[in-house]
Amino acid sequence: PDGAVLEALQHADVARLLPVPAVESDKYRRGVVGIAAGSARYPGAAVLAVSGALRGGAGAVRYVGPAGDAVIARFPETLVSDRGPKRAGRVQAWVVGPGAGDDAGPVAEVLAADVPVLVDADGLRLADPGAVRRRTAPTLMTPHAGEAAALLGVSREEVEGARLAAVRELAGRYGAAVLLKGSTTLVAGRDGGTVRVNATGTSWLATAGSGDVLSGLVGSLLAAGLSAVDAGSAGAYLHGLAGRFAADGAPVGAHDVADAIPGAWRDVR
Ligand code: AMP
Ligand code: MG
Repeated sequence: PDGAVLEALQHADVARLLPVPAVESDKYRRGVVGIAAGSARYPGAAVLAVSGALRGGAGAVRYVGPAGDAVIARFPETLVSDRGPKRAGRVQAWVVGPGAGDDAGPVAEVLAADVPVLVDADGLRLADPGAVRRRTAPTLMTPHAGEAAALLGVSREEVEGARLAAVRELAGRYGAAVLLKGSTTLVAGRDGGTVRVNATGTSWLATAGSGDVLSGLVGSLLAAGLSAVDAGSAGAYLHGLAGRFAADGAPVGAHDVADAIPGAWRDVR
């Protein structure tokens, strides 16, 4: 459809993309990922995004936002800051939006940074389209069908009935790479052309917080230096596989999916 070429992701493609620290590597060379997520109302989204990021290969995870206590209680290795993104210190890629509520400030600050940015969840609604278009560093937006529909001003059913057209339309409008979540995941680059498809997932991934784990995981891959499309597609592949391994035919929570990422990584590598 649409004359677009769809490309199914394979194990070997993803294996080539996964960052491996060089012998002389240090945490900064591996990349620092910043997570600007969570709110007093949704602290768990921050915890889950950090959980994904810690398993994604970055050298360090920096968290900024109001859920620092919850994050540090669960993941003591996180660098927690109560300043905004602009004053948080060194960050090689940002994830903004999961559970963020209505605070547009951090979204604007992150979009103004000259490093790769992943925008998810509430961040998609809060992001100024002009600010996204003006960015020169890689940008990846990661809506599910409902979020994509809101951005396009159409119904969820319309997006679900034409997912390929929707992901390409969003990429064109925002001048950004777009990852459209669902039972399969589509990843489109900002310049159109080939759209990658990931089908490693399982319907057990349809559970609260699942997407927050994905955002952190992909953010880490961006901080390690992958392009927006490569980070999105490798992240979706690993996340789907982790969901399969964690569930193994039974229900799981999003935190179980995060815990299964290292096993998925070993399987792919
Ligand atoms: P979110 O809606 O932001 O929580 O993200 C949900 C995550 O779970 C995305 O990575 C989806 O691709 C994945 N997911 C949701 N439903 C399914 C499904 N039926 N089959 C496979 N993956 C799914
Ligand atoms: Mg979500």
